Amino acid sequence: MSRKANAEQVWKQFEDHLAPRLHLCTIDRVVYSHLVRHSRLEGKLRLEFPLSWLARGTNLSKISVREAVRRLIGHRVLRLVQRSKAGHVVEVRIPNEVRAGRPSRMARRAGSRTRALDLDNLDFLKSPGLRLAIHARERRRCFYCLSRVTPATRCLDHVVPLAKFGDNSWRNLVSCCQECNSRKNAFRAADYLRRLHRERRLTDAELAARFRALDAVAAGKLRPRLSPELLRRHGGGV
Ligand SMILES: [Zn+2]
Repeated sequence: MSRKANAEQVWKQFEDHLAPRLHLCTIDRVVYSHLVRHSRLEGKLRLEFPLSWLARGTNLSKISVREAVRRLIGHRVLRLVQRSKAGHVVEVRIPNEVRAGRPSRMARRAGSRTRALDLDNLDFLKSPGLRLAIHARERRRCFYCLSRVTPATRCLDHVVPLAKFGDNSWRNLVSCCQECNSRKNAFRAADYLRRLHRERRLTDAELAARFRALDAVAAGKLRPRLSPELLRRHGGGV
């Protein structure tokens, strides 16, 4: 990602639409501005940072910035890609990429995007139909070890655990076997895949393909298919 966002447009949309609609408090505004300045205004979508860096840069406490990051993830203006000892990796969304950040007239006109946006807001653990859609996406194979799974042996795993700010969206849930679900536990998904590779349960090529699949899930490229009826039932537009 090398295109720099238009700073003037970002600032105006942030002030005029995003911040008021999301009722962002002062701390959230400061933290968001700092993150946008060091990512999108530099032409980078993703930003990796330790909380200490964010606290220093905003002159706030680590506790305050941690809470702000959590709230901004909840508002979907940040998307957590990964969290490790080294810090967070997030994708920073600029206002026109967030529904609340666009002028309402434009949002209404963007009807064709309704389905995608509603899908983003769905809790995929909420109903059997939605859970099934994730299982169907993985085509009866464990996302991690590629072993065959059946309705009796499969489960859903949070790629980024809830305890580490993961959510129940389709970008953070995968279908896997029970063994992987319990063994992965606190591992980062990438580390768990490397472990499977070390144990010779994944070949080199399979490991590489799993990493690509992991990136694709996080980047929103592995969209589960929902029937129009299912979308309607969960309040999505069709
Ligand atoms: Zn498995």
